Amino acid sequence: MKKLTVLGQDVRVRVSPTFLQNAACPLNLKLTYVDKVEDHFLRVSTIRGSAAHEAIADLTKMAVDEEMPFNELTDDDVIAAVQKHTPHEIYAELGNILRWVRLWRDRYQYSKDLVGFEERLAVYDTPNWDEAPWDEADIRGILDWIEINNVHRHCIITDYKSRAGILSQGELDAHEQLSFYAWLVSKFYPHVETFTVRIWYLQYGFAGETSRTAQQIADYEDQMRLQIAKVLDIQSWDPIPGDHCGVCNFIHMCPVAKDLGPVPPEIISQTQAVEAASRIRVMEVLTSEMKKKLRKYVVANDAVRIGGDFVYGFKAHTSKAWDVRKVQEVLQRFGMDLPGADIVNLDKRKITKLIKSARNNENEELADALEELAYKETSTDFKGYKALANEDDEE
Ligand code: SF4
Repeated sequence: MKKLTVLGQDVRVRVSPTFLQNAACPLNLKLTYVDKVEDHFLRVSTIRGSAAHEAIADLTKMAVDEEMPFNELTDDDVIAAVQKHTPHEIYAELGNILRWVRLWRDRYQYSKDLVGFEERLAVYDTPNWDEAPWDEADIRGILDWIEINNVHRHCIITDYKSRAGILSQGELDAHEQLSFYAWLVSKFYPHVETFTVRIWYLQYGFAGETSRTAQQIADYEDQMRLQIAKVLDIQSWDPIPGDHCGVCNFIHMCPVAKDLGPVPPEIISQTQAVEAASRIRVMEVLTSEMKKKLRKYVVANDAVRIGGDFVYGFKAHTSKAWDVRKVQEVLQRFGMDLPGADIVNLDKRKITKLIKSARNNENEELADALEELAYKETSTDFKGYKALANEDDEE
């Protein structure tokens, strides 16, 4: 058993996707695994996700036992499963969970290649990654869905996600949790040669998918070993902010997340500089998360007015734009042949600079010719703005 000891406090290093995510910040690791902070601090979204997962696991079992497609499960079946697994503390979320589970029931495809759901896979950290009992394992994970086609030696792994937001293809390709699952399955089914790994978006009822090759899985194993070694190296529980703050359950207990605390009069020491940079990092991540949620609310409802004339909502924005081909023609007419790379990179900022420099060089004719080509382009941004200001900002 691997153990991390910091200032006399022990953490059993039992690797799972959640452990690796929490390990990005030592304070998060301590609050989760040393202090074992009470469940009621857990975010609503975490509890909501667990309720949906457990309801789906019950329904999957029911359909598999009855050998029937999921879309033949009745509304009563779905309601009973959601009722059973949703704790009262997230009563207000019942409608959402019911909608997600219904979407799953209606759209998720059963497969005859299914080999496991809510499957607990656990191994010891030994050279052959020997199978371990769940409570003794060094590395373990619960997989929502595993199907294996033995003829094609191909495995499909699906992870149900309840958080809002669709990942880009690049994010799916680099998704560490999906790599972890493929790695873990490869230890139990060594004959599998290729993997499709998917995220089923519970809120939207569809899957995004990518693949993992044997080489990618071997690379991931090296990465995970390195991560474990770094965790075992931790010397202090001080917080380290980053993107992971967006999914942290302990923001209310974190010293660097005291975003409404006073701003220091000045920053003169390295310690103060690190503290200020850390606070900014947390605030940026939280602001971005909050803006996404507020935008969603405004799309479904209306702009939100705060403090009299300040509004968060959609605002039209007009700016100048140019047809690059026409700009190129004008430049040629004036004997300015830009190299190919400069033409490709001609954007609003560069054209504005060209006009400015033409005026500075008293080449008014060129500046006017370029100005004449400008047309107005309107776009709409989600932002905070003064409601009484002119609706259209010019740039
Ligand atoms: S908010 Fe960020 S820095 Fe603070 S404990 Fe959570 S993960 Fe660590």
